Amino acid sequence: MDKLQGHCHCGGVQVSAPASAFGVVACHCEDCQRLHGNYFAMLVAPASDVVWSGDLAPQWYDSSAQAQRAHCPRCGSRLAKRPVGGERVMLSTGLFGRHLQRRIEKQVWTESHPAWYALPAPKEAP
Ligand SMILES: [Zn+2]
Ligand SMILES: [Zn+2]
Repeated sequence: MDKLQGHCHCGGVQVSAPASAFGVVACHCEDCQRLHGNYFAMLVAPASDVVWSGDLAPQWYDSSAQAQRAHCPRCGSRLAKRPVGGERVMLSTGLFGRHLQRRIEKQVWTESHPAWYALPAPKEAP
């Protein structure tokens, strides 16, 4: 199975995800605004198919009663979100570099987006 390979800014945290990961999904909620400085662009995959490696382990933070967020303990790159007790993980799309051949497939919490940016244009219908 093809894999997507990603890493944080310092390279300490490496991640592998299935090429079948869904997304890009853009979340415009207020938590993502604060945590990412912008909307959170994510790829969604089964947690059991995501492999973390490298010198450092993701540091998980309880961002709410329902979800945890991970960052690199050295460079602080935002890595992922996972629902508590869930079976999926949402990976920061930026980890996979600028050549990732993806478009925004879905947007959530669009009503929460701040006034200072327009929503990204939806993917054009084929
Ligand atoms: Zn790092
Ligand atoms: Zn969000």
